[in-house]
Amino acid sequence: MDHFLYRNGILHAEDVPLSDIAASVGTPFYVYSTATLERHFKLFEEALDGIDHTICFAMKSLSNQAVLTFLGKLGAGMDVVSGGEYARAIAAGVPGERIVFSGVGKTRQEMATALKGGIRQFNIESEPEMEALSEVATSLGVEAPVTVRVNPDVDAKTHEKISTGKKGDKFGIPISRASEAYARAAALPGIKVVGIDVHIGSQLTQLEPFEAAYLKVADLTHQLRSEGHEISRLDLGGGLGIPYERSNSAPPLPIEYGALIKRCVGDLGCEVEIEPGRLISGNAGLLVSSVIYVKDGDGTDFLIIDAAMNDLARPAMYGAHHDIVPVVEPAPGAEQRAFDIVGPICESGDTFAKARNMPAVGAGDLIAFRSAGAYGAVMASEYNSRPLIPEVLVKGDQFDVIRARPTFDEMIARDKVPEWI
Ligand SMILES: *Cc1c(COP(=O)(O)O)cnc(C)c1O
Repeated sequence: MDHFLYRNGILHAEDVPLSDIAASVGTPFYVYSTATLERHFKLFEEALDGIDHTICFAMKSLSNQAVLTFLGKLGAGMDVVSGGEYARAIAAGVPGERIVFSGVGKTRQEMATALKGGIRQFNIESEPEMEALSEVATSLGVEAPVTVRVNPDVDAKTHEKISTGKKGDKFGIPISRASEAYARAAALPGIKVVGIDVHIGSQLTQLEPFEAAYLKVADLTHQLRSEGHEISRLDLGGGLGIPYERSNSAPPLPIEYGALIKRCVGDLGCEVEIEPGRLISGNAGLLVSSVIYVKDGDGTDFLIIDAAMNDLARPAMYGAHHDIVPVVEPAPGAEQRAFDIVGPICESGDTFAKARNMPAVGAGDLIAFRSAGAYGAVMASEYNSRPLIPEVLVKGDQFDVIRARPTFDEMIARDKVPEWI
């Protein structure tokens, strides 16, 4: 179900015409649909119906406080990867017992903050991290619940920059060494083993790599139990892909993913945790931009737009594809032209699409990047002194700015010029 549809010739976010938002906040901006966020969260709830489970939203994909508060009220937990994300989750009212702490480089300070504020578990990624957590927990007189993230050596068959479960990746402890790692964890004071964690990558478009990983986790569960460890939780990470190209075949659905989980680990008597990010937030957001100029090129014409790689880094960073559509609905059968769609930044990498067929659009027209809710706003920077763009949240016919565009003065005022210059 798509909550971004043309109505009366204008692309809407739920019941709000994007042209209304553009008139009110200016371009470029991100806009998110609460209906899509809710629907995607509930798809996972349905997919895991019948087994004990917790869904922790991978908030690194989209971490605006309004979005976190909304998902938290639906009952979502959070998967956090930094002290800042932990602070955001708590500020959004998510209780510590629904927050899991992931990431390869948790600092002692981050560990202490989470132990004091409440945490469901730490997903531990190395022996030195385990030892650091043991020291921090002991000094605070508490016990830290942990899983060990195992690297199952499975090829996730996704982009190399977001593949995380293959031998040689920086993540987790090789599954072949899991036995020793768990023995080490069990021997450390202040550490309580509660389960196993695995996360093999992001934007997976097939179920087979998940299946290979989860079958290994099931075997490991039996083995670790026979070695005397309590394995009552399996954290199966995130990573289910979304359809970025309408014209392409769709990745597996949450319901199929849920069935796979039940088949692989459903009879182990464990609580299952999942950490979806992109599948909840990706198709819940658009980036809306205006065309500044149409420039004749040598063969292909350029659409020079007011969004750039600092606002949406995915195309420059991963060569990622986003469907790009005009906000004013093209007439049926309207002629298409090939455009290179580029931002104003002084780098050739600031290219969103090459030779993309688009209905004719002109200077001043609005265009929308689909599937921009995940890893969009959160990766933005102020490169070229372009202020972070606003985020807008829609519910039905209401919309609100959930992060305002800073003024140039506000942007400049964050810097301090020492007196001695
Ligand atoms: C990034 C990440 C996720 C979320 O991945 P998606 O592909 O957005 O679902 C979940 N868990 C961990 C540990 C991650 O690093």
